[in-house]
This record gives sequence, C-alpha cells and structure tokens, in this order.
Amino acid sequence: MIIDSHLHLPELREGITLADSKEELLQELKKDNVDYAVIIPDNTLVSEIGSLDEVLGLVELDKNLFVMGTIDIQRDREPHIRKLDFLFRTRRIVAVKIFSGHDTIYPTDKRLVPVYELCIKYDLPIVIHTGANSRNPEPAKYNDPKHIVKVARRFPTLKIVIAHYFWPKVEYCRELTKPYANIYFDTSGLADDEVVEETGLDKIRKVLTSTVEQRPHGVVFGTDYAMCNIGKHVELVESLKMSRQAKDRIFSENAIKLFHLSV
Ligand SMILES: [Zn+2]
Repeated sequence: MIIDSHLHLPELREGITLADSKEELLQELKKDNVDYAVIIPDNTLVSEIGSLDEVLGLVELDKNLFVMGTIDIQRDREPHIRKLDFLFRTRRIVAVKIFSGHDTIYPTDKRLVPVYELCIKYDLPIVIHTGANSRNPEPAKYNDPKHIVKVARRFPTLKIVIAHYFWPKVEYCRELTKPYANIYFDTSGLADDEVVEETGLDKIRKVLTSTVEQRPHGVVFGTDYAMCNIGKHVELVESLKMSRQAKDRIFSENAIKLFHLSV
C-alpha cells in the first residue's frame, strides 16, 4: 500500500476548475499505484491549489483522499483556530501545516501555541514546511530546525513533521533533531531534480536511512505533487538500502499511525 502524505492539487490553468484538478490528481494516483493521499490546501483564501474550505468541499465523498488543515497565523485569529478544532473533532483534517518560510513566521512564534495545543489534544501532527525555496535560501532562516527543536523540547507530546528535511542541509537537520523522538520527517520534494542537485542524492539516501535505523516510525512517504513527480519519490524510497518491511513502514504504516488514517 502507498499513502502519499504530502501533496497538493495541480495548479489551476486557463479553463480548468478545481474539480478538474482533483480528477487530474486521481488519475495520477492511479497511474503511480498510490492508494491514499493527504491533500494540503493553501493557507490563503484564494489560491491556485485551492483554499482549505475549497479542498474540504471537493474531497467530501472521496474515501481515499484526506485533508490537512492550514493556517496563516499572521492573518488567522481565534475563529480559525476554533474551526480547526471542529475539523479535528469531526475527523475532516488529519494534521495542520504551517508555512514558515513562505510566511515570515518562526515555528517558535507564540501565536502558534494554541495550534500546537490543538494538535496535542487530538494527538495529530503539526507539519512544518522547511528548506530553501527554489534558488532562494533566504526563507530557510524561518524554518531552520534550530527553531523547531525548541518547539519539540517545549511540547514533548506534540508530534512534529519536518517537510522536505530542511534541504539542502539535510545532515545538519538530522544531527540537530536526533534527540527528539517527537520529530518526524516526510520525503516530499527529496526526489525533485533541483533538490537532488543542490543536496546530493547520496546525502539524501544516507540521512533517510540513518533516520529510519534510529527511528523506524520516523519517516512517512510524501511527494509534493503536483510540484514534484510521484514516481521519482517512489523510486527514491525503493532505492534505500533497508528491508522491505522498513520501506513498507515508510510507504504506509507510519502514516496510518501518525495521522490516525482509517484505510
Ligand atoms: Zn508541499
């Protein structure tokens, strides 16, 4: 079984609706033998990849599609946090993602504390965008794992998923996060051409393998589709030197536990 725990709807283009985007996504999942997926909406009200409300409405009847909650803590206030609480309680979202780096906020921002407390209450993860943005390392200062470990230390029962392994500095991220059993990683973006070129494929493989050796439940499969290619991410995980059982945990078992997925 394959569960893609980090993807987005394909961007809207001329004459294409969000419903068409969803159909395109479903075709792609079928092609790559992906059984379930967690869609991450944008944290803006209007977006080419769908807002939270739009994506929630779109996948209501799809048993194989889950949704991640999103928030822009610089704009969203108490009502949005109450909404996330409701969505958690009614099982309509399986995590919350913050976009530190895209947004100029640090994970240590105190406005995020109620969001972390919600995740703890429902035992569902907070997902944090990390790493350089295309040819622009500056945003990475907001999502440096040195800030994330402070959150992990302060909230030991909060499950934190680091998306994109803070590429290209994957080894630095690995070293810094090693002591924290409540930090998890997804593989999203790590098979992307630019990420591989800037980081090095050997380094990516080594870091993923050593993470799994230390923490068999610490890595979940994600692709960052439609920005990235699903098949290449499957190949990356298949290329890791580890047992079939360890790969199966990455592909599905770890995500089922972490996001409490009913599959
Ligand atoms: Zn993404």
